[in-house]
Amino acid sequence: MAAPALALDIGGTKLAAGVVTPTGEVLGESREPTDPASSPERVLEALFELSESAIQQSGAGWRELGAVGVSFGGPVDFPAGRTVRCHHLPGWEGVPLRNLAAERAGLPAVMDNDANAAALGETAFGAARGCEHVLYLTVSTGIGGGLVLGNRIYRGANSAAGEIGHTLVAPGGPECTCGRCGCLEAVASGPGIARAALAALEAGEASTLARIPREALTARHVAEAAKSDSLATRIMDRVGEYLGLGIAAAVNLMNPEMVVIGGGVSEAGDVLLEPVRRAVRRGAVPESVRDLRIAAGELRDRGGLLGAAALALREGIQRTGRT
Ligand SMILES: [Zn+2]
Repeated sequence: MAAPALALDIGGTKLAAGVVTPTGEVLGESREPTDPASSPERVLEALFELSESAIQQSGAGWRELGAVGVSFGGPVDFPAGRTVRCHHLPGWEGVPLRNLAAERAGLPAVMDNDANAAALGETAFGAARGCEHVLYLTVSTGIGGGLVLGNRIYRGANSAAGEIGHTLVAPGGPECTCGRCGCLEAVASGPGIARAALAALEAGEASTLARIPREALTARHVAEAAKSDSLATRIMDRVGEYLGLGIAAAVNLMNPEMVVIGGGVSEAGDVLLEPVRRAVRRGAVPESVRDLRIAAGELRDRGGLLGAAALALREGIQRTGRT
């Protein structure tokens, strides 16, 4: 059996390290909040302190590990093993993170962006276990995506595949973080959902959401109120509709067995998933949706960590033995 992997997760809210077996069992895990002012050097230092602690908990030693996988919160140049930039931290332009991790750990390393890692993690250990063709979306502060085709991550020509968040679904809609208007991310991310609720309240619509201070209103409030409040229900229906439009276009292209939706907004459950399923059934060709399953992710806040482990365990870089 393949050796356990060291998994490293560089995210916007936390840094994490874990020792993970080929079946997805986490033998040891250590995490700390991300310091938004941290330099890449400091982040790596912190990750390897967390690694020492995770390895100690696991009862294994460095020598028993087969590879290191890194999930990075921003775009990467996959063939070069370099980061492009970080969504959350300064100084990550062009950092050779794969080699730095490999040198530091003394292990073969693989590094990818967090959405690709989570897509592979859900396929290896989560909601899409046993599937070969999976479309993964993370819906939280932004919307990212990852494609697993034939059990491998599909990265495209410039490591830029999977950017489903910037699919145009609402022409003339609100401005997106990318500078264009009406992207899926602008209308269906957490901030997009909160913005829609605020606009409706400002327009005088009656809702239990009006009891929440405007500056504190989040997508979570809207999702929770959707069970009983008609404005919140309409907003979540529309968000599901937008997500379904974007997903249907991708389903028509790639014909996945399963669509997995992760990220904080996915915790809304069926309030979100039911309108998504309806919209995908309407928008995709019948052959593509006949056996298609659409479900929430199962890995939750371990998506980055187990995704990093899946990269190390599934991308064929395991060493055969340490000398
Ligand atoms: Zn955009």
